[in-house]
Amino acid sequence: MENELNDRHSDETTGQFLDFACPSCRSSLRATDQHLSCSSCSKTYPNDDGLFKFTVQDSNHGELSREEMHVLLNEARTNGWRSALDSLEGEDKVRLKKLITSPLRKNAISIIQECGDRVLDFGCGYGGVSLALAENFAQVVSLDGSEERVSMLNVMRQQEDRRNITPVCHIDALNLPFPDNCFDAIVLTGVFEYLPLSLPHLSIHEAHTKCLQSFLRILRPGGKLLLNTKNRFGWPYLLGGKDHTGLRFAPALPVRVADLILRMRGRGPYRIINYSLGGYQKLLHQAGFENIEMHSPYPSYQSPHAVFDLQTGLAIQIPDKPLAKNSRLKTETLRFLAKIGILRLILPHYSALGSKPVGGEK
Ligand SMILES: [Zn+2]
Repeated sequence: MENELNDRHSDETTGQFLDFACPSCRSSLRATDQHLSCSSCSKTYPNDDGLFKFTVQDSNHGELSREEMHVLLNEARTNGWRSALDSLEGEDKVRLKKLITSPLRKNAISIIQECGDRVLDFGCGYGGVSLALAENFAQVVSLDGSEERVSMLNVMRQQEDRRNITPVCHIDALNLPFPDNCFDAIVLTGVFEYLPLSLPHLSIHEAHTKCLQSFLRILRPGGKLLLNTKNRFGWPYLLGGKDHTGLRFAPALPVRVADLILRMRGRGPYRIINYSLGGYQKLLHQAGFENIEMHSPYPSYQSPHAVFDLQTGLAIQIPDKPLAKNSRLKTETLRFLAKIGILRLILPHYSALGSKPVGGEK
């Protein structure tokens, strides 16, 4: 027999988040221990052992094939998730393991620590950031389109007794399964640039703007959005580094030029787009955010040793520690670029922070 969990916003037994809204009609959803059901349109969404499934993305998983992912999941369920990750071999997979377990991940979310109780980790992947968020927020909702990835996170949270994490499988950023004004903070880590891929009917600018407005809807007034993302003019790209397309300088080229080159090579369209320092500020402002701040996780948002506050202009510090492995020449070059105000424009990664206007509910 189904155990009715009533209309509470969280489950007192499991501690999980239950304040869902139907992604089709936005009515509130009623929770049982087997599914969520909509009283308006009668749709139901499964609750699979604490993992709530709305829509599922059919894709590969980057470092791991679907088959490898299933082996990893079985291993995690049988022998524990840490042992399962230890069994991974190969450069990519060791990198994946580091990404999930790095203690530095908490630095990337340090600027929203004091935001409130409820946070959405949008595009959570395997949940490395979610595990860090769970130390600071009472409720963490971890959403990703990959069922296998959120299933792995579900195993991790159960084995770590992280009851305050609620994994959700969903792909549609414009129809999120949450009511208005629901979250104190939303975090996207290495995800924002990919959003236009799932909205091929929209231009890149429209896709990004509509997604930002969708996040604005579910943030409470004063709530904060944090985008941990790359700089299109970051020095790795300016020095000829390749992005995901394999094309040198691609992010730094005008989008139309990069798009044309990729189409000519049969690999277009070019829709995974990063912005500049001013580009992120403008986009957030146009979408309706205020109090926009730019920071830079250094050397990367995946494992930052430090997060610089770029509001302070020239006063960006170059601590000795993060650059210790690099040459003295590089450190001195960076100090010089900071002094003349150039460094902030070419840092590899940014953390863009915007607030929902108070009294400006959409
Ligand atoms: Zn409905």
